[in-house]
Amino acid sequence: MADQDYYQILGVGKGASRDEIKKAYRKLAIKYHPDKNKGDAAAEEKFKEATEAYEVLVDDEKKAAYDRFGKAGVQGAAGGGGFGSRAYTDFSDIFSDFGDVFSELFGGSMGGGRRRSNRGADLRYNLDISLEDAASGKEVKVEIPRNESCSDCGGSGAAPGSRPDACDMCGGMGQVRRTQGFFSVASTCPKCHGQGQIISKPCPSCRGAGVTEKRRTLHIKIPPGVESGSRLKVSGEGEAGPQGGPKGDLYVITHIKPHALFERQGNELIVQANIPLTMGILGGQIDVPTIDGKKARMKIPPGTSSGQHFRLKGKGMPYVGGYGKGDQHIVIKLKTPRNLSKEAKNLVEALDKEIQKSGEYEPEYSRINLDS
Ligand SMILES: [Zn+2]
Ligand SMILES: [Zn+2]
Repeated sequence: MADQDYYQILGVGKGASRDEIKKAYRKLAIKYHPDKNKGDAAAEEKFKEATEAYEVLVDDEKKAAYDRFGKAGVQGAAGGGGFGSRAYTDFSDIFSDFGDVFSELFGGSMGGGRRRSNRGADLRYNLDISLEDAASGKEVKVEIPRNESCSDCGGSGAAPGSRPDACDMCGGMGQVRRTQGFFSVASTCPKCHGQGQIISKPCPSCRGAGVTEKRRTLHIKIPPGVESGSRLKVSGEGEAGPQGGPKGDLYVITHIKPHALFERQGNELIVQANIPLTMGILGGQIDVPTIDGKKARMKIPPGTSSGQHFRLKGKGMPYVGGYGKGDQHIVIKLKTPRNLSKEAKNLVEALDKEIQKSGEYEPEYSRINLDS
């Protein structure tokens, strides 16, 4: 594939809005759609290119990664699959977005304008995960009850050995046309409700619906860096459509449980380190827990005050679908000892006298800065 810039492929500027990106893609998709250019490999390539560019630029996170790192930033996105990986890229979505346009344009070549059968419902699954799992990514097992295609009738809804009959009112088209003057108006067939077929002997297992409820265990890959409220789309894992209709999609919504140590702000993690007063004065080193379950050694410089903050580069949360991680921030709090021995108290009193001489003794006042 030619190494062309995604913006160039779609013919939009870098500052293009989502709508402009959609519009530009829609134009190209219609022009190069494989159904319209049968056997034309160049058109197919153009269609794929445009789709790849669209998938990245229409997704805020992928677009940000692409703007920062180019194609390297988005390849291997969504769990290593890159473009076309089944888990989160969403090819069918584009068509449902433009569904009307496509059926208008290609209706003729796709079977005489016959209505498609009912699509199955989308499902939503709420998934609670720990911050650790959100950081590392995880494959989770989810059990969902959903309507699946009936195995006795193969989803047709007709009793085994029988077949649905073409609807006699619309001749199987699912639509009836009425002519009013110059206009011909199509409407959904009232007899078959757009299905184009009538089931005279319904399948006893599914009572003609073509679907039965089953519990299904799915393995879902959670990409590293997900946030609370992230919506992961798993195409085609929703409910089966009635009478053999296409499947809906499954949406997994992640909720991240509060962590005992880490506060998360976007891709940054914040932890408070409570260190001894004397370490603040003299300096030292601490081993800070990190989200990967390990520890990172960090130097405390002499003269460190309560409220001072340090940064461990790249120890924060990963960017979804991109490279790199945020940082971990360590906010220092000095622990003032409460139970001093006689000897310790004498030492501190001696220290106090020394500090009084140094000129750093007087209390100072300043405006509080809650942001830092
Ligand atoms: Zn059945
Ligand atoms: Zn009909």
